Amino acid sequence: MNIREKVLIIEDEKSIAHFISTILSSNGYETIQARSGSEALSMVSSHCPDLVILDLGLPDMDGIEILQSIRSWSSLPVVVVSARSHELDKVSALDLGADDYLTKPFGTAELLARVRTAIRHTRTTSSNSEIAQRGTYTVGELTIDYNKHQVLKNGKNVKLTLSEFRIVALLGKHAGKVLTYDYIIKELWGPRASGNNQILRVNMANIRRKIEDNPAEPAYLFTEVGVGYRLAEDE
Ligand code: CA
Repeated sequence: MNIREKVLIIEDEKSIAHFISTILSSNGYETIQARSGSEALSMVSSHCPDLVILDLGLPDMDGIEILQSIRSWSSLPVVVVSARSHELDKVSALDLGADDYLTKPFGTAELLARVRTAIRHTRTTSSNSEIAQRGTYTVGELTIDYNKHQVLKNGKNVKLTLSEFRIVALLGKHAGKVLTYDYIIKELWGPRASGNNQILRVNMANIRRKIEDNPAEPAYLFTEVGVGYRLAEDE
């Protein structure tokens, strides 16, 4: 049985809404569209979508308000779309519970990857069935072993510090999803940890040096400038 996932596209620009809808439809999703915030909110409750793609710049309401309204009663996955190059919008949307974001202009592969990942992460609470079943997460030549607290590259143990391992382990549990600096820092060093990104940056540089073939062109650990980090997801 193949149930098509329903995606609600909240976007006032017709050409972009059409682009998103065409791509998703031809990749097996059912799509519905809303052009304004008020229409969007009524459709969320009446059509029960599996995922929402939310443009932050709508004519009648700020997209952030819509996100807050959805989050007040639902954990429905939300991918925000922003034309604003302003990084704070993306960060505040993520901190308010958005699952991921797309910056205009974006391509087909990026759109499909964000949608697939956001839906997959709501399906399994541990966010990753391989971790739940075998205690490992593998992508390419990289394996995170959650039981042995090890990271293997090509089957060889990568010597990571405890902090470095915890960062990789956290990103692995949310593979494919962007995690904000703030989220990573609080998960690692507690809710009272300062928002200083410097320690995190140093750790990331060290991890890259150890796991990437070419740290300047990472294949596993990606930087989302001004927002956070994302670990590659196994296709
Ligand atoms: Ca817009």
